[in-house]
Amino acid sequence: MDIIAHGLYGAALCSRVGSGPAARRSLAAAAGFGVLPDIVSMWPPFVWHLVSPAHGNFFAGFDGGWLTVYRVMHSLVVSLGFCALAGLVCRSLFLPSLAWPLHVLCDMFTHGASKFRTTILYPISSWGFDGVRWWEHPGVVAGYWAVLGVIWGARILRARQDLRMFPASAEKPEKQ
Ligand SMILES: [Zn+2]
Repeated sequence: MDIIAHGLYGAALCSRVGSGPAARRSLAAAAGFGVLPDIVSMWPPFVWHLVSPAHGNFFAGFDGGWLTVYRVMHSLVVSLGFCALAGLVCRSLFLPSLAWPLHVLCDMFTHGASKFRTTILYPISSWGFDGVRWWEHPGVVAGYWAVLGVIWGARILRARQDLRMFPASAEKPEKQ
């Protein structure tokens, strides 16, 4: 799944609904966790690839240590472990942090059994589900963006409904 969709899925499904500051913080954090696995594992080597004199195909040359980082960041074991810790340390971070394992689940079905397979059990196992490579199937991309549109539509409707029912406070008080 592309990185923009990851951010928007995370923000839509793993953040508090509302228009207050806590809801906005939750939304931003969920979007951040939604894109985290790809940013951490792919952006530093991509920047290095851009500035280094030896140019080749970035994805073909993506290997070694950065591939290990990619596997770590695309593991349900690692991401769910992080969510559990985040929930213990800071309760309000738990829901947004779930955008990370959501990213992993989305990639699991939208990556094939290649170098970029999603190794959900890493480091216990390097097994990866043989999903559909999104970059080779525009119909898959159109499908997940359509679902995203429906989810955001429902979320916006719900926020408007809450605002009409509770005009004084757009969100319930945050439990800490
Ligand atoms: Zn990813």
